[in-house]
Amino acid sequence: METPLRYRAEDFTATLPLSDYLARFRDAGRIAGYCRSCPRYGATWACPPFGFDVESLFEGCTTALIVATRITPIPAGAPLAAAREMIRPERLRLEERLLDLEGRFGGRAFTCVGECFACPGEPCTRPEGLPCRHPERVRPSLEACGFDLERTASELFGIEMLWGRDGRLPEYLTLVCGLFHGHAADDVRW
Ligand code: SF4
Repeated sequence: METPLRYRAEDFTATLPLSDYLARFRDAGRIAGYCRSCPRYGATWACPPFGFDVESLFEGCTTALIVATRITPIPAGAPLAAAREMIRPERLRLEERLLDLEGRFGGRAFTCVGECFACPGEPCTRPEGLPCRHPERVRPSLEACGFDLERTASELFGIEMLWGRDGRLPEYLTLVCGLFHGHAADDVRW
């Protein structure tokens, strides 16, 4: 019988003025180059290129709430193929929380990099030139908007992003997402 995969997920948060986050962690030209080399580029509505001006998402926002989630497989040494099994429930949890905060406080939610999970079992409509089925749920990732997530994780949380090797997951995986809003830091809590 197959043993269900276990993991521990821990959220860490940091709040800083949006102007600081933009100045320290946004490098749109360099990060866009990484996006263009990804097979998801232009393949889903959750990924660039976007049909809107990314800078317009920051309008009216003064504060960046950034969330880093560290996912630690238990025990260590799980196969690389198990990553999706751990990432999917955590991405769904984070996205639900972000959309809830966005709904209550306004501003703009930014989800995590990777596959869009809003249409389970169905291919994205983008390659067919059809509109997104769930625009109310889909938000771009911070990386897709030009933010350096490795530096964000390292400098704001002291977490070095790790990558799998030899078919095995690293000691932990890291997701980074956030909400930009127009309130004082203490008014919007994770
Ligand atoms: S919700 Fe569906 S149609 Fe929209 S980006 Fe995600 S996969 Fe594509």
